[in-house]
Amino acid sequence: MNNTVENVVIIGSGPGGHTAAIYAARANLNPLLYEGFMAGGVAAGGQLTTTTEIENFPGFKTIGGPELMHHMREQAIHCGTRIRTETISKVDLSQRPFKVYSEEGDVILAKTIIIATGATAKRMRVPHEDDLWQKGISACAVCDGALPIFRNQPLVVIGGGDTAVEEATYLTKFASKVYLVHRRNELRASKAMQQRAFTNPKLEMVWDAQLEDVFGEKYLEGVKVKNLKTGHTYDLEAKGLFYAIGHTPNTAFLEGQIKTDESGYILTEPDSTLTSVPGVFAAGDVQDKRYRQAITSAGTGCMAALDAEHFLATEASGGH
Ligand code: FAD
Ligand code: NDP
Repeated sequence: MNNTVENVVIIGSGPGGHTAAIYAARANLNPLLYEGFMAGGVAAGGQLTTTTEIENFPGFKTIGGPELMHHMREQAIHCGTRIRTETISKVDLSQRPFKVYSEEGDVILAKTIIIATGATAKRMRVPHEDDLWQKGISACAVCDGALPIFRNQPLVVIGGGDTAVEEATYLTKFASKVYLVHRRNELRASKAMQQRAFTNPKLEMVWDAQLEDVFGEKYLEGVKVKNLKTGHTYDLEAKGLFYAIGHTPNTAFLEGQIKTDESGYILTEPDSTLTSVPGVFAAGDVQDKRYRQAITSAGTGCMAALDAEHFLATEASGGH
């Protein structure tokens, strides 16, 4: 074990992690960022590396997801961040300095930690899904729904929660029709959301139905759906398929040492990135199941670095 005690170790490499790194580096905290190596099945750089064009990140009319993340990484390095391409497998938050363990065997001591490990959208992995992923299939309607390929076309949303209804309702602005395919015959979504779904003339509920497969030559042309009550399988024409079956926050490696909600999202104090462990901060989708955007992740990444800086300054002056 190296006995150097780092000021700030940042875990995660999406917009939250890199923004935290930029701010921490500019505050002369000499941050060390672990970007992961296919952590949770996603490349370093996070969820945006799995998509094509981003049209809602300020400063770029349009930019490729991987390219945007490359710029953020370069900027973090330019400001003085040290980046290691390893995944953090474990942390010990029981005493300070904290211990951070990488899969490759690094053991790092840290005065503060910023967790920005993000969340992974759940997918169903039906047989031909990988062939058409991002060619009509997406896990984020707010991100991709306005693309020209979906305009005035029939679209399918899978799920029955608030996200599914919200995204299906949003898509009706662009689509000719939206099928909301749900595996049961009642929605999990709140009553207010249900009301929205049932009164929208462009939205059609497909109850008791399970997605079996997808088809299309170059782009998605339709989906195969099975009625779970009758066993009957049929095709629905659709140019877009949007999963809204939940996300998994990447918090398993914390082994319960930080308070989370029942789904595993880190709980932060209101208007801050403070977690239940003093000196540990959380930014981005790992603590946000509501907004889940690149810009909101970047915003909380900035907040986490400022919170860590304040924590270290207070400690240095004998506070806490
Ligand atoms: P993430 O992007 O989730 O990245 C965190 C990364 O940290 C992980 O992916 C992994 O590489 C790394 N990591 C995880 N665990 C560890 C570990 N234990 N050790 C080390 N590293 C680890 N948002 C928009 O604003 N506009 C869009 O157009 C848009 N399009 C999207 C399209 C798709 C297909 C998806 C899935 C999402 C899209 N989003 C979009 C949402 C956006 O990508 C997320 O809100 C944002 O990336 C979250 O950033 P984050 O910093 O929380 O972390
Ligand atoms: P939820 O877990 O609430 O809902 C997931 C939905 O996907 C459920 O209807 C579930 O079905 C379905 N589902 C899960 N796995 C599968 C699968 N393998 N195959 C088919 N269907 C599947 O996730 P949400 O993302 O909708 O919501 C997460 C949280 O965020 C909730 O607390 C929600 O209230 C909140 N939220 C609030 C919003 C708001 O207030 N504006 C907007 C968006 C989210 P089943 O019902 O049968 O379990």
